[in-house]
Amino acid sequence: MRDQARVVVIGGGIAGCSALYHLTQEGWTDVMLIERDELTSGTTWHSAAQVTNFGMNQTMVGLKTHSINLYKELRDDPEYPVGYNYGDGGIRLANTQAQMDGYRQFTSMAAGMGVEFEVLDAAECARRHPLISTDNLLGGLWDPTDGHIDPAQLCQALARRARLAGAEVNRHTPVTGLTQHADSTWTVHTEKGDVKCEIVVNAGGYRCNEIGAMMGVQHPVASMEHQYFLTEDIPAIAEAGHRMPLLRCPISDYYSRQEKGGLLLGFYEQDCRTWGMDGIDPKFTNALCPDDLDRVTDVLEGAFARMPVLMETGIREVVNGPITYTIDGAPLVGPIPGKRNAFCIIGLRAGLGEGGGHGWLLAQQIVHGEAQYDTWVIDPRRFTGHATVELTALKAIEDYQNEFRFHFPHEHRPAGRPMKTTPLTQVLISEGAEMGTVNGWERVDYIKPTQDFKETLGFKFNEVHDVVAKEVTAISTNVGITEVSGFNRFELTGTDVHSFLDRMMCGTVTKREGRVGLGYLLNNHGLLKAEATIANIPASDRGPARVWYGSAAASEYHDMDWLEAHIKADEDVKIRSLTNAQTILVIAGPKARDVLSMTARGDWSREAFPWLSVRETHIGIAPATVLGVSFSGELAYEIHVPNESLHAAYVALRKAGEAYGMTLFGSRAVESMRIEKGFLHWKSDILTEFDPFETGLERFVKLSKGDFIGKDALEKRMVAGQQRKLVTLVIDTKHAPAHGGASVRLDGRIIGTVTSGDWGHRVDKNLAYAFIEPEFSPVGTTMTVDIIGEAFAAEVIESGPYDPEHSRIRS
Ligand SMILES: Cc1cc2nc3c(=O)[nH]c(=O)nc-3n(C[C@H](O)[C@H](O)[C@H](O)COP(=O)(O)OP(=O)(O)OC[C@H]3O[C@@H](n4cnc5c(N)ncnc54)[C@H](O)[C@@H]3O)c2cc1C
Repeated sequence: MRDQARVVVIGGGIAGCSALYHLTQEGWTDVMLIERDELTSGTTWHSAAQVTNFGMNQTMVGLKTHSINLYKELRDDPEYPVGYNYGDGGIRLANTQAQMDGYRQFTSMAAGMGVEFEVLDAAECARRHPLISTDNLLGGLWDPTDGHIDPAQLCQALARRARLAGAEVNRHTPVTGLTQHADSTWTVHTEKGDVKCEIVVNAGGYRCNEIGAMMGVQHPVASMEHQYFLTEDIPAIAEAGHRMPLLRCPISDYYSRQEKGGLLLGFYEQDCRTWGMDGIDPKFTNALCPDDLDRVTDVLEGAFARMPVLMETGIREVVNGPITYTIDGAPLVGPIPGKRNAFCIIGLRAGLGEGGGHGWLLAQQIVHGEAQYDTWVIDPRRFTGHATVELTALKAIEDYQNEFRFHFPHEHRPAGRPMKTTPLTQVLISEGAEMGTVNGWERVDYIKPTQDFKETLGFKFNEVHDVVAKEVTAISTNVGITEVSGFNRFELTGTDVHSFLDRMMCGTVTKREGRVGLGYLLNNHGLLKAEATIANIPASDRGPARVWYGSAAASEYHDMDWLEAHIKADEDVKIRSLTNAQTILVIAGPKARDVLSMTARGDWSREAFPWLSVRETHIGIAPATVLGVSFSGELAYEIHVPNESLHAAYVALRKAGEAYGMTLFGSRAVESMRIEKGFLHWKSDILTEFDPFETGLERFVKLSKGDFIGKDALEKRMVAGQQRKLVTLVIDTKHAPAHGGASVRLDGRIIGTVTSGDWGHRVDKNLAYAFIEPEFSPVGTTMTVDIIGEAFAAEVIESGPYDPEHSRIRS
């Protein structure tokens, strides 16, 4: 074993082997994999190893396409061919119209990535899979690429190719400790000696938290026991004359694929178990958990009803093994929050299907700082302080119990809630608020008109449409109040704060005391990394002059890592997170100034406190910092209050609001209003695949200001020309919004993808943002947008059709 390498990957399952191989593909060959036992001795060896292209966002579809193409290439490699049953095809079943709508949406989304799915009716499902009955079946989604692979051969093939490229693979070498040095390099301690390296990668599977503990972190990853069995041969399969397609059933929570002349059936039982929560036996390697088929009888019955032939088929073998889950079901692939030179590729629950793609995107992140897709959906920094293993266990159980039931738009599942609350959460609920969650924070979604009001989840406009319409009317004619919990807020102090921010941001953001500005941070490729509201707070009895950096609720770890990594050794900049210490109350509407004036001393007139001002004050008795900013397009104030005073501030505002008929509103109303105003959402519309010019944010770029992060790359991109352009579309239908990922077409050809959409109540139009081919971006160009399987006429309009002069915000 060498005693140094540029990268050490810890773990030799599919995650580690794929990461190692792809590092060599990206040109880094001084890399090493260290495995405590044999390759694949964790979960990988006993995987059912199904490989599907299905995903619920374009990043997942894209990375799975990479897996499939790579696996086909490995299958066809004459020197080391891998067993891969590609193209058996697979059906995801559905027995509700809402699930079918989802499949139509996912089909449109995948088409934008060049992946063709098909939506089938029940009869066609049965024609393609002759063993199934059509009872209680509406139809399904067909993935023609579905199949399965030999997991051991796959890992051996990847390790072999990596070795040929110069990588070293060390088996039977447990990693026992990690030491990070002052220059951020590492020493990896193993039972066979130390290895010095620049970067470590945790690919430890269900032992990822043992490796995490060696560097002082706890990853939000928990394991579940998961079982499948293999049946005896089934004559009907031989008689069918073709291989059986795969099945995934959200009605009874099982999957099946053909295995030799029989079936493999895997189960997601309701009576499920976490595994390894109190530590994992060091001798658990190449091992399985004890069988327990009694536990799966609930779902087994559903499988038997769908495939009656199972009732007369014997079971050949049972497999029960640990499988890892995260808080939202997607893995953690990327930089480890709060650490330098440390990455992970963990929490994979479908690692054989996805592993090829995850290793690819991880290697790109390590070598180039960023992958070719926006990887936020798998970014380890998308969860923040609430992300413990205990919470993950609760969400893992919930996710397992709903394995094939995708989240509907606006669906917020209950496990582990409430995770993060403010002193107002219960007050707002008692006033009728329906809560959703944002990065674990309970946040007002909308106000229920009656106590027993329930939303029908689905892809169409539903009963909440009118509720939101009323909230919007109240705000635009009068005044409304809401709480914005979990908003990310850093306090920056030090003599170099402004020059530092100037280097980090691509435009000029105001440095004037008492003023607020919006700015954008690029990465080294000139692509949009972060969006921040900068507030210059003058010195006061609460502290010296300081800058607040405000950004989206989930961005705390992401933005903190990015900012801290760029503070130079000789720069005086200190960053402190106030995210969990304060909460925002927003008052919005033409009467907002009156309410503010009644609760806070001083002159709040338009002249004394114009739009984009910041001032410290008291709301009643509560200390507060008021920003004159608006995401709704109405006159509005963000009132930031320390959590211990939040209730007091709320009571004062509500009391003052009585005279103006102030009402509560929620984030669904804000979502509708911000699209009408042309305002964008980070990671919905602001993606790290596009630059500010493509995203329509050119007014926030100042190339003449001197150097800033990403400037060279941005200039090169400008010469190369824009790939896509973000436009606002008005769509000719009233039944449903355009959902993120839906395809935009011209004469049937896909020319772009929707990022977000909603009804604009004030302009009375169905609006959406989409990135499309630039030549079709001029205002007035017509096209179609897929909405739940149908194409609707759409036209490009000017961004922000509501009050384009911002006269209401400035009023
Ligand atoms: C029953 C079952 C069926 C499944 N079916 C499918 C399926 O159909 N399709 C699909 O895509 N996925 C499936 N999965 C999930 C898939 O198998 C896993 O997602 C995948 O195998 C995880 O791979 P990994 O590399 O992350 O972890 P592992 O395979 O567990 O690899 C981690 C490696 O790290 C090593 N390691 C740990 N600690 C150390 C240390 N200190 N030093 C050195 N090495 C260390 C371990 O020995 C191990 O080899 C299934 C899982 C189960 C349990």
